[in-house]
Amino acid sequence: MTAPTSPAAPAPAPATKLPSALRDRAVWIFDLDNTLYPASCNLFAQVDLRINEFIAAHFNIGMDEARVRQKQFFRDYGTTLRGLMSEHDVDPVAYMDYVHDIDVTGVQPSAQLADALDRLPGRKIIYTNGSVRHAENVAGRLGIIDRFEAVFDITAAGYVPKPDPRPYATLVERHGVNPADACMVEDIARNLAPAHALGMTTVWVRGEQEYEKAGVGAGVHIDHTVDDLPSWLAGVAGL
Ligand SMILES: [Mg+2]
Repeated sequence: MTAPTSPAAPAPAPATKLPSALRDRAVWIFDLDNTLYPASCNLFAQVDLRINEFIAAHFNIGMDEARVRQKQFFRDYGTTLRGLMSEHDVDPVAYMDYVHDIDVTGVQPSAQLADALDRLPGRKIIYTNGSVRHAENVAGRLGIIDRFEAVFDITAAGYVPKPDPRPYATLVERHGVNPADACMVEDIARNLAPAHALGMTTVWVRGEQEYEKAGVGAGVHIDHTVDDLPSWLAGVAGL
């Protein structure tokens, strides 16, 4: 008599897909805005206003016309700054200093995020299309700036913004990152595509804006989707 065939056990999920398996990644690369703090802080509304003020003052035009110019630069060059630099030779340092001179008191310090970062053994780097000064201002307010060994900003990137793949390669080389042992965390899904192409694990902090969601499920590879980064990271860290 043959033993009855037992039903096949469900296949276990691949270990690499479990957040706990991420704990020992050698390098964590975090976007800053709307990633390390929630989009509900609405800091970008202040930056957006100052971008348009900068354009209005630079060209001596009204705010309505400035908004039209800004949208053209963004559409044609990927960022407003790149358009201003390419077409009008604007000083990027003066621009960045002006647009990031904002009130960050709407960002709440996060002890949970600080604890999770402390418990994660890997190196941590901030990678932002903004400036080092902006990163220090915001991450200082969050109470986490000293958890990061470096800020790779738009200046370090040669003023080439994400998701152009070139600055990702620069970051990897400059900071000695092995992409296969690195994890990148971002709210703009398409900014994760070059990281995945290099071999990094990708973590999408789910955003509600169209520009944040673009490409999800249609070519942009996401390994993990996260709604609350501090609590997810605490889970990964084993807190
Ligand atoms: Mg962001």
